[in-house]
Amino acid sequence: MLCPRCQSENCRRSRRQGFGDFAISVVGLRPWRCRSCDARFVARAVAIKYLPYVHCTMCGNLDLQTISAEYVDGMLAWLFRMVHIPAYRCAPCRNRFFSIRRYHRIIPAAEPSAPQQAQEQEQEHVHHTPVAR
Ligand SMILES: [Zn+2]
Ligand SMILES: [Zn+2]
Repeated sequence: MLCPRCQSENCRRSRRQGFGDFAISVVGLRPWRCRSCDARFVARAVAIKYLPYVHCTMCGNLDLQTISAEYVDGMLAWLFRMVHIPAYRCAPCRNRFFSIRRYHRIIPAAEPSAPQQAQEQEQEHVHHTPVAR
């Protein structure tokens, strides 16, 4: 699950709290919480914010590749090809599908696992050799 605020994948299902969360679960939505930025949001396969964009309906991935329509199988594939609906491929679950949603590729934010690496680059010393006269 991709966080709509910080694009981190570090999100967990949130426990339902109160009637509001019960009501959203009736319409197929689930409350989630991001462990990176602490944002709470509701989602189906993807967060509400990402629903207008092309996403994998199997795993909610938004990091999709556009592929040629001839690689997609399915009952209505011939129809989608005929009307030139774009085809996409989800790498993690190998799902290939057609979608008329807006294509907006979102790559998950990198996990902040190694914070020391950024600091090491600043330790480069510049030597100022005094010019002798
Ligand atoms: Zn977040
Ligand atoms: Zn997928």
